[in-house]
Amino acid sequence: MRRVRHTDTSPEKMIRALLFKKGYRYRKNVRSLPGKPDIVFKSRHKIIFIHGCFWHLHRDCNFYRLPRTRRDFWMPKLEGNRKRDTETRRKLRRNGWKILVAWECELRKMDCVLNKLIKFLGKP
Ligand SMILES: [Zn+2]
Repeated sequence: MRRVRHTDTSPEKMIRALLFKKGYRYRKNVRSLPGKPDIVFKSRHKIIFIHGCFWHLHRDCNFYRLPRTRRDFWMPKLEGNRKRDTETRRKLRRNGWKILVAWECELRKMDCVLNKLIKFLGKP
């Protein structure tokens, strides 16, 4: 199983590097905001989360496989993560933030993701 929870996971790094190259400036892992969002565009009031499919329980996703053993250990844990994500997004939206979630599995088509992000963010 891959660890995707620590701060500088490679999908995040990859996305950040691409956005930086395009001319976007942002803050990362902003502790003062709920959920410590991965990429924050303060002046635009926009946030991007890069979610690992397993840890954030991406529905209908073929990218990861749930462990066969100890499901009753994993499921509540992962459902908990998912619930917390929902709650985090709700809090942020209530404070006027616009949010986009990019999933790990989407990063296989980096061009598509990048287009999606740029559409969401607007011009650099
Ligand atoms: Zn996925």
